[in-house]
Amino acid sequence: MMQRKNRRQAKPKWLRVPLPKPSEIKPVTETLKELELNTVCEEALCPNLSNCYSHGTATFLIMGDVCTRNCGFCNIPASRPQALDLSEPERVAEAVERLRLVHVVITSVTRDDLADGGASHYANTIRKIRNRRPEVTIEVLIPDFKGSEEALITVLDAKPDVLNHNIETVPRLYKRVRPQAKHERSLELLKKAKELRPEIATKSGLMVGLGETEEEVIQVLHDLRKVNCELVTIGQYLQPSGTHLEVVEYVLPEQFEKYRLVGERLGFISTASDPLVRSSFNAAEFYQLGRSRTRGN
Ligand code: SF4
Repeated sequence: MMQRKNRRQAKPKWLRVPLPKPSEIKPVTETLKELELNTVCEEALCPNLSNCYSHGTATFLIMGDVCTRNCGFCNIPASRPQALDLSEPERVAEAVERLRLVHVVITSVTRDDLADGGASHYANTIRKIRNRRPEVTIEVLIPDFKGSEEALITVLDAKPDVLNHNIETVPRLYKRVRPQAKHERSLELLKKAKELRPEIATKSGLMVGLGETEEEVIQVLHDLRKVNCELVTIGQYLQPSGTHLEVVEYVLPEQFEKYRLVGERLGFISTASDPLVRSSFNAAEFYQLGRSRTRGN
């Protein structure tokens, strides 16, 4: 059945970004193509692609380009995934080496079809990168592994520098925005990660503009601080296509600034809150800023 296309609002000026110059992004796109790697940058039509690619960074999307879940905001199609490609971790490490990345972000589709949700594939990818470039900092943006502590420990034992798990939206909107996820389960995952490995920074992120209220967003920030989450990103939801959730509101930059100040007040080491912010946007700088603040510099 043809999904009903909904009317799309014009983007305000603060969300208009210049198109990437092919020459700027060529080195990254060619490397990814040659090594048959996916990025969330391209899959999610990220507005910051040219900025990140021209700075030689990208967010690798592992475990295929289809997902076992069907979040209303996500551009990745839901379908029956392929078998895991066990050579992928080595190819990601090769790309990290070729692109001389300093900070690597690894994310994935959700693989509810796998016993460990793909946790061992994450761990292998981290280890392969470390074998080649021990000095890089590695951030993993993981699914909720259906709340499995064993899967979480498998990833943590590979010693990422940042454990990121997006809370995405406010509890009232879960049914529409991320129907197969649970707010409490995502909080519990972040809580466990900090308890099990306090030396690993924890991070989360949410989108706004889906119909949430200011109070609900601030409550989610409180919830994240209650589980000792240290880094948070808040960005504007952008509709990938007419069949995805509509943008209810283009949130004003002033409101993002207000959320940033609330985040600072609540004690997040770093709060990145801006219409164009994405969970791995400027991830390297954001992580280094967090580390320097932790060290009290
Ligand atoms: S679980 Fe992640 S990849 Fe899958 S549909 Fe939701 S946001 Fe997209």
